[in-house]
This record gives sequence, structure tokens and C-alpha cells, in this order.
Amino acid sequence: MTRPVKIKDVIVGGGAPIPVQSMLNVPTSQVSAAISQIRKLERAGCDLVRLTVNDEAAAEALPEIVSKSSVPLIADIHFDYRLALKACAAGVAKLRINPGNIGDGKRVALVAAAAGEAGIPIRIGVNSGSLREDVRKAVLSGKTSLGIAMARHALKESEALSKLGFRDIVLSVKASSVPETVRAYEFLHENCDYPLHLGVTEAGRLEDALIKSAAGLGSLLLKGIGDTIRISITGPVEKEAEAGRKLLQFLNLRPYGPEVVSCPTCGRTKVKLEKIAAEVSAALAKDKELKRYPCKVAVMGCAVNGPGEAASADAGLAGGDGCFLLFSKGRSLRKVSPEEAVQALLQELRDIKKAKRLK
Ligand code: SF4
Repeated sequence: MTRPVKIKDVIVGGGAPIPVQSMLNVPTSQVSAAISQIRKLERAGCDLVRLTVNDEAAAEALPEIVSKSSVPLIADIHFDYRLALKACAAGVAKLRINPGNIGDGKRVALVAAAAGEAGIPIRIGVNSGSLREDVRKAVLSGKTSLGIAMARHALKESEALSKLGFRDIVLSVKASSVPETVRAYEFLHENCDYPLHLGVTEAGRLEDALIKSAAGLGSLLLKGIGDTIRISITGPVEKEAEAGRKLLQFLNLRPYGPEVVSCPTCGRTKVKLEKIAAEVSAALAKDKELKRYPCKVAVMGCAVNGPGEAASADAGLAGGDGCFLLFSKGRSLRKVSPEEAVQALLQELRDIKKAKRLK
């Protein structure tokens, strides 16, 4: 079990529910744009938001952003220890630094002291791109693997902080290679009890990022490795939060909202299943009562096999000839027309939710 650290009211590690993180992609100095993106992320289920503090203007903007954010904020700082001190004073909930690029020991000590006084943890974030020159050379010459090199580097950086008496540490070791990322986190899991922030970095555009992150983070999470996650996507930030929440739900680690299962269709299918599945997902995402209800919804191509194949679904639709069959837990309820199918399914889910509440 990892040591728990507190990021305002969010616990990371120690077996706490795994928080989902994302990072703003607007300049921190643009306060209203930053706040509007934080709200979007919060609506998408993000628990922790990181933002860059890369210059004076960003540091100056922090107090106002912190005061207007209901999500704990993490300041991402490279090179300039003074920005880290300012971020602590501005009330951020956590720092992300790489002590190796903050400079000499005195500067790292000042940052650790400020974080300690403010009661905020520090994430040491080592990426494949931020390795020390000697470590990079060792990897290039084949003396060590990238994953092990990143993990050793992170442990060394954590020693620098723990020698200063600072132990509220989270570690991350992200590479764009899935196997190296997995190797790095497995090594940390074996060799320390710090909570681990999981991510595959530079994972690419939506489809590639989802596959890489699901493969890397999924395999680690299923082994009980990982205390908080970010799914990095070149694209809208709220997709990162949504994907993170879905991944945790699909691994049975943290409920989030409805899970829509749909069959791949085959020669038996006589309805426009892809269209109906998209309509069901969109209607559920908009429905105030159901959008955070963790239920299983099935959209199946035929009534012969559909209800049976999706017997674990709370409710579902199975395509017939010009109509749909509404079913629940593998049991047929009634026929519905294509026009009324989506609303009939949603009503069935509302009834199930109400009945469970009354039990
Ligand atoms: S549920 Fe029916 S339509 Fe869908 S794949 Fe199975 S047999 Fe084919």
C-alpha cells in the first residue's frame, strides 16, 4: 500500500479512490480562459487540475485562479525555483517539479520548505524527455532500459527531498512507449511506497492516446499499481477527464456514469445500430438524472442473441425487423418503434434507478 498524500480534500494513495487529472492548455496568465477550462474539466469529472507556471505573469494570475477554482490546482514548474515559491504562497494544492532542473540543493531546499509550510505535496515528474544527460547516454548505449532509467532517476530525486525531511511526495515516470512506461512504474512499485501518478506521455491524438493509455494504465491498474491518472491527449482537455473516468469505471475501480455496450453487428442486423448507439450515448450524456448513474446499457443488433449476450445489462435495446425489443437483465419487456426506442430505454433506466432507491 502506498503512503497517502493530501491534495486539499483529495487523497492520493493509501487505497483511496483514484483521482483523475488533466492539465490546462491555455496560458495561465489568461485568467478567464483558465477558469473556463477548469470548469469544463470539472464538469467532465476531473478531480485535480494542473496548470503551467512558466513565467511571472502566470505566477501573478494564480491567486485569482485559485480563489475561483473548486478543483484543487497543481502548479507545474520547471527551472525557476522562485516561481515554485510564488505558487506555494498563492495557495496551490500541489507542486509538480523535477528537482534535477530546479538547480542546486539550496534552491530545492527552499522549495521543499515552502511546500512543507503550506502543507502541500510535491510530484516529482520524470519524463523520457527530461532525463539527465548521463542517464540519457546510458539508455542510448543500451546499458539500461528507458523505463528502469526513469524510475531510478525519480527515486534519486525523491531521495533529495526526503533527505530534507520532505516526504509528501508523488512520483511519475512517463514515456511515450507503453512497455517502457509500464516497466518504469512496476520498478517504482517494487522499490518505494510513494503514491504513483500514472500516464503515458505524448500519447498522440484521440484514438492513439486512448489505446496507448488504456493499454499502459490499464495493465498497471489491474495489478494494483497507480494512485492517480492522467490520460494525455492531443485534443480537447475535457476528453482527457472523460477518458480517465471511463477507464476507471471499465476496470471496476471507480463508478462514474452509464456504460453503453453495443454489439459489433453482423449479417443478422436489420437496424441502423451505430446510429441508435450514438443517440443512446448522447441522450444519456445530456440526461441530468442518468448521466452520473453507473448502470450498464446495451444496444444490440438482433433480438435473437442480443438480450442473452447482454444479459448483465440493466436495460437494453435489441434490433428487430423495423422495430426494437426493450429488455432488462436478459428479459424481454416489449417492442418499441425506432422513433420511441431511445426515450423508452431512458425511461426504463429511470424506473430501475427509482426502484433501487426505494428498496
Ligand atoms: S447481437 Fe445479434 S446482431 Fe449483434 S453481433 Fe450478436 S448475433 Fe449479430
